[in-house]
Amino acid sequence: MTQTIIIASTIFVLTAIVVMVVTFTKKPYDKTAKHGGKVAALASNLKIEQLKTDIILSAINDGVILVDANGTIYLFNEAAGNICGWSTNDAIGLNHHSVLEFVDEKGVAYDSGQNPFDKVFVSGTPVHDNSAYLKTHAGKIISVYVSASPLTLDGQGKISGVIAIFRDVSEERQAEKQRAEFISTASHEMRTPVAAIEGYLALALNEKVATIDQKARDYLVKAHESTQSLGKLFQDLLTAAKSEDGRLSNHPTVVECNKLVSDIVSGVRFAAEKKGLIMNFDLGAGAMGDKVVSPLYYVFADPERLREVITNLFDNAVKYTDKGSITIGLTGDDKFVQIRVTDTGQGIPKEDLPHLFQKFYRVDNSATRTIGGTGLGLFICRKIVELYSGRVWVESEVGKGSTFYINIARLTQAKANQLLEAEKNTAPPPPNPVETV
Ligand code: ADP
Repeated sequence: MTQTIIIASTIFVLTAIVVMVVTFTKKPYDKTAKHGGKVAALASNLKIEQLKTDIILSAINDGVILVDANGTIYLFNEAAGNICGWSTNDAIGLNHHSVLEFVDEKGVAYDSGQNPFDKVFVSGTPVHDNSAYLKTHAGKIISVYVSASPLTLDGQGKISGVIAIFRDVSEERQAEKQRAEFISTASHEMRTPVAAIEGYLALALNEKVATIDQKARDYLVKAHESTQSLGKLFQDLLTAAKSEDGRLSNHPTVVECNKLVSDIVSGVRFAAEKKGLIMNFDLGAGAMGDKVVSPLYYVFADPERLREVITNLFDNAVKYTDKGSITIGLTGDDKFVQIRVTDTGQGIPKEDLPHLFQKFYRVDNSATRTIGGTGLGLFICRKIVELYSGRVWVESEVGKGSTFYINIARLTQAKANQLLEAEKNTAPPPPNPVETV
């Protein structure tokens, strides 16, 4: 239903835009034309077209704005006026910067590199901004969605103007925020009793503390496993909610990846071997004379967050691999440090690859139906890697296995030393009691 409405309103908007563009491009009629009848007919056609455009544009609920090559507003429909508090007559003829003041969530004005109109003029490609804010004529800040596209009418790719559609999405963003807050609070509240239950079950299963018969032990083992999954679900929900609204604790520092990754490998090796899998650590090494040296791979990130990402990818590798090996690799060039986790497991179908890092996405197959999971792990990995402007992606072949890659900008040795020196001279920040994840 919602889709039908969106399609219908898109068709409606597009029709209006086509009519409008036709009007925009129409040259003034030739006053010197000899045939007065033809001129009158042309003028009347033009008037009809103009009328149609006006009717359609004023019926549209989204703001529609057309600016010419100089950035001057040529068209400004009624809804645009309602959203940003300018009357059509006042707005037309002004530069778009004076009428549409885009700002970030703190109210700081967008610079030219962020302004959707300017971006279209520079890139020549459509721009969509789902997180923009607009300062209205009265100074109120509202959330808007903007989609701006170039108009190229000369057939040679020169931009003649920009057409933008925008809508007030304050209510949707508010609802989204409340939903995220609810999930975050509920997970936080539920995590505490679940942790207590898990602790008591562990005590009951501890032979030194409690004596229980085998049947009761079997039941308690199952209850303990389920409680652990529940605890993980709440923890993942909380981390996902925090990563979305920027509250994820993050204390970046200079990290030497070689040390971090080998520590992680030693810590997780047992879990792989317990499942009968061979665990490898493949460190990118460079030859220097007859010595093999391990290069120092420095990045600027929170080591605990990086550990979380690598451990998450490793846990998945173990979960979705029945036989063979898991390899954690580290390599890099002068720009990036690359960490990879390779398994010889079931692999991932091609059609699922583009969706894998979305929230709650799980591949629908017999394995995932029997193997527990939340579909949040890879989403959280992506959000953490993005904190450091890095990239995470996967290459996989069904039946052969998967490799997950993480690329993060590499710090030069000199830059790493400089940052370490600066860290030494700065007092550590006070602990933040709110950041519990
Ligand atoms: P989950 O909790 O379901 O494991 P993730 O977000 O960690 O959630 O992973 C999303 C989905 O990606 C999984 O459900 C699984 O289908 C697929 N997946 C992730 N890692 C692997 C892997 N190493 N091999 C095969 N499939 C994987």
